[in-house]
Amino acid sequence: MKTRMKRSLTFILIGFCLAGSVACAHPQKNETQKPNKQVTDTLQHPTGAAKKLAERLKRKGITDKRVLAAIGNVPRHLFIDERLAEYAYLDRPLPIEKGQTISQPYTVAVQTELLKLKPGEKVLEIGTGSGYQAAVLCEMDAEVYSIERYQELHLQAKETLNKLGYYPRLFFGDGFEGLPQHAPFDKILVTAAPEKIPEKLLNQLKIGGWMVVPLGGRQGQKMTVIKRIGNDKFRESEHGDFIFVPMQEGTED
Ligand code: SAH
Repeated sequence: MKTRMKRSLTFILIGFCLAGSVACAHPQKNETQKPNKQVTDTLQHPTGAAKKLAERLKRKGITDKRVLAAIGNVPRHLFIDERLAEYAYLDRPLPIEKGQTISQPYTVAVQTELLKLKPGEKVLEIGTGSGYQAAVLCEMDAEVYSIERYQELHLQAKETLNKLGYYPRLFFGDGFEGLPQHAPFDKILVTAAPEKIPEKLLNQLKIGGWMVVPLGGRQGQKMTVIKRIGNDKFRESEHGDFIFVPMQEGTED
């Protein structure tokens, strides 16, 4: 019995080491941000739980096949504390460091669906958090930029993402400022809730592009899409009620 256990442990360890060495290869300059399929599959939850989660989201009304495929490919349990791993594939938000949360998978799916991403589009995420949403965007072949205001979360997310073979461009900073040096963006995705529209971000959108943002105070927010239809012309639409952590100004360690 003991020997058998030892043998299976060795197999698991060898599996992780092999996966690790592939995933940690330095990204080529022109490499896509999507990881080698084998890498994620090796690290995939043993029960195919991510695929089941995607099926559950489909039953809840998510129709975009590319969004469902992306969620079915990302090992969510690797973006949270391992003590919470058993909850990783439930459709629930979960706590991460610094009192923040990894969004509920349904919320990630709704926001991603509203982006209507085409491969190669340039997207800016505000609120890297665990890095999970950024991984989903990479799976959809977007050119991903993401900002986080907590340095600790920024560094942790970078480590997790790179280990899995995802290489979005990650920045430590205040999302209210956006990334003027990399603008304009086809789409902007805000994953924390500002009380008012972050004006500087609007100016970093391409004309014809849009921002998906949960707008409102701590009691709850309206998922809002703001489309830039002209230089100073925007059109807004609302897409249901959600609850996010607040978008806060400035940065912290
Ligand atoms: N997209 C994340 C969700 C994280 S929750 C994920 O997939 O895990 C929202 C995140 O937004 C938190 O990490 C929070 O620290 C961050 N945030 C809040 N205000 C911000 C700001 N002004 N700039 C950048 N990040 C911000």
